[in-house]
Amino acid sequence: MTLSRIAREVKTSATLAITAKAKQLAAKGIDIIGFGAGEPDFDTPENIKNAAIKAIKDGYTKYTPTAGAPALKESICEKLLKDNNLKYKPSQIIVSAGAKQAILNIVLVVCDTGDEAIIPSPYWVSYPEMVVMAGAKPVFIETTDKENFKITKESLAKALTPRTKLLFMNSPNNPTGMVYTEKEIREIVGFAVEKGLYVISDEIYEKVLYDGVKHFSPAIINDECYKKVITVNGFSKVYSMTGWRLGYAAGYEEIIKAATNIQDHTTSGANSITQLAGVEAIKGNQDSVAKMVSEFDRRRKYAVEKLNRIKDVSCLLPHGAFYAFPKVSGLYKRKISGQTVTNSFDLVNLLLEKAHVAFVPGAPFGADEYIRISYATSMANIEKGLDRFEKFLAG
Ligand SMILES: *Cc1c(COP(=O)(O)O)cnc(C)c1O
Repeated sequence: MTLSRIAREVKTSATLAITAKAKQLAAKGIDIIGFGAGEPDFDTPENIKNAAIKAIKDGYTKYTPTAGAPALKESICEKLLKDNNLKYKPSQIIVSAGAKQAILNIVLVVCDTGDEAIIPSPYWVSYPEMVVMAGAKPVFIETTDKENFKITKESLAKALTPRTKLLFMNSPNNPTGMVYTEKEIREIVGFAVEKGLYVISDEIYEKVLYDGVKHFSPAIINDECYKKVITVNGFSKVYSMTGWRLGYAAGYEEIIKAATNIQDHTTSGANSITQLAGVEAIKGNQDSVAKMVSEFDRRRKYAVEKLNRIKDVSCLLPHGAFYAFPKVSGLYKRKISGQTVTNSFDLVNLLLEKAHVAFVPGAPFGADEYIRISYATSMANIEKGLDRFEKFLAG
């Protein structure tokens, strides 16, 4: 069989593969503690669910305009002005089936065959594959815990070539939980745009912040940034709406128009019912967000402290999202339970099979010295799972 270039080049999601294996073991009756979740463990708030039920009852069940229901686009404009000080007209918004589709649309609009897109590493697993789909080339800037997983203007300058077209920014970050300061974003994105790059600012964890750190949207830096930065956000993480599939991109009208043309011929846009639920998510009571974040905060502190007490494991305190990204390469080459572990896949597989805890290996995020732990699971699970991890390593 000779399949297409995309079929040959796009890789399966390694994070989903490990989740599938954990599910298999659980189905056999083994008690597995999972730290793999890429989604909040909270239910979608009641007022949002009710808005969807009302939308169905009111017959809001037909195609919406491709770029989104007018009421939702207006709410998004209000939100961007209120939270991010960004002035957009509804014609500058495209609503998609998740932030994931919004990002792919923009990558397809910006990147040509042979172009290069810069992806700070560790990165969200889908960025490189989207760049490959567009026929462009992912270029990585490696960072480690020593630099707090942050790129700088200098490291960006070194990665530039005449083919560089796009820079991905993701703060708060998945998988590291790192949050850039306003000053750092001004410097990095200001420089990228000066060099003629487009920038996708993936702000999906915008409201999942701790320790009083502030979120900053780079499109606001100056007029040129307003033209070249595409702000991406969504409802999945902040409102526990992963299954609803709702996200959006905001940017210069020409870019959004082109993205809409692409979406015209792929999904025709997001689900109509979900979109009205999205209006309620933005306009309704926000207490559920604060409650969720404060619970994440409690778990975060416990998990990171516990991880740092484990020999040969070290973990930065993340300031955003719901992941910790401990460095575990100190365990590589050491014999654990009679086996030598040499990389993050080995370690995660061993921990799953022998200790019955499921982490996500760092390798698919571009960082083999680390593993990702999601604390979007109960405190009881975190205590039990990390205990198992510690005891297993102690032998
Ligand atoms: C979850 C996630 C997304 C995509 O979310 P959607 O469910 O498609 O809205 C995008 N970027 C990052 C960094 C994520 O973690």
